Amino acid sequence: MIPHTLTAENYFSPENEMKYMGSSQFKSFQRCESSAYAELHGEYKREVTDALLIGSYIDAHFEGTLDIFKAQHPEIFMKNGDLKAQYHHADYMIQRAERDEFFKTYMSGEKQKIMVGEISGVPFKIKIDSYLENMCIVDLKCVKDFNLIWNDEKGGKQHFINYWGYDIQGAIYREIVRQNTGKQLPFYIAAITKEKPEPKLKVYWIPDEDLDAALNEVVSLAPRFNQIKEGKLQPQRCGDCPYCRFTEVLTEPVNYHEELEVYDVECE
Ligand SMILES: [Zn+2]
Repeated sequence: MIPHTLTAENYFSPENEMKYMGSSQFKSFQRCESSAYAELHGEYKREVTDALLIGSYIDAHFEGTLDIFKAQHPEIFMKNGDLKAQYHHADYMIQRAERDEFFKTYMSGEKQKIMVGEISGVPFKIKIDSYLENMCIVDLKCVKDFNLIWNDEKGGKQHFINYWGYDIQGAIYREIVRQNTGKQLPFYIAAITKEKPEPKLKVYWIPDEDLDAALNEVVSLAPRFNQIKEGKLQPQRCGDCPYCRFTEVLTEPVNYHEELEVYDVECE
C-alpha cells in the first residue's frame, strides 16, 4: 500500500483537494475548467442539491454512519423533527437493497477504503464505497431511473454510466487499486433507483476495455487539469454552467443568427 495521511475527515479538505486529484474533481474539470478552478480556490461553491444529499444519506447507511450524518444535516428534518418525505423514501430504498442478498454481497466489502497513487505524474486519491480485497471494487449509486439520458452536447442518448462519467471513475479506481495491490480488479456499480412506489436495483459491470478507454482519457487530460490547478495554465470557460453565467461580463451585442446556425435552423 502506498502510504498517505488521508482520513474520512480530511479527505475533501481544501489542502487535500489541492494536493490530490479525485474522480469528482477530474470530472468537474472536464465539465468546466473555470468552474472547477474557482471551486478549488474557494471562490465559488456549487449548490448541494437534494439529489446529492440523498445519495450521501444512502452511502452513510451502508457505511454504518447514518446517525452521524443525521446529526450533521438538520436540513433533512422537518420542524416537527420527522424526516422530510424524500428521506423517508431513501429509507425505503435502503430497505429494498437490504432485502436483496446479491446486492448486499457486493456491498459487503470494506467501506470507504482510501488509497492514493499517480496517473500521468499527477497524484490521485480514491475512496471506495465497498472494497472486496482481491475480488472487486464496488461503487454505490442512486439514480433517478435506469433509462437512457439525452446528451445535448453529443446529440444523442447515453447510458447513465457514460452520461455521469462512471466509466472515468471506474478507470481511476481500478488503476489506483492496481498500483497499491498489484491486482487489476473488476469494477461494479451497485445502483438503486429513486422510482416510486418501488425502487429498482441492479449491479452493473463495466467491461475492462471501456475502463481502458476511459483511463486513456484520464492519462491525457490529468496533466493539463493539474497545471490549471497550480495556476500554470489558464482555465477555459464553458460559457454555460452556473459559474460561467454568474461571472459573465457582457461586452458587445450578438447577432442572433449566430445562435441559429449552431442548430442549423433557418431564420424566419
Ligand atoms: Zn462553465
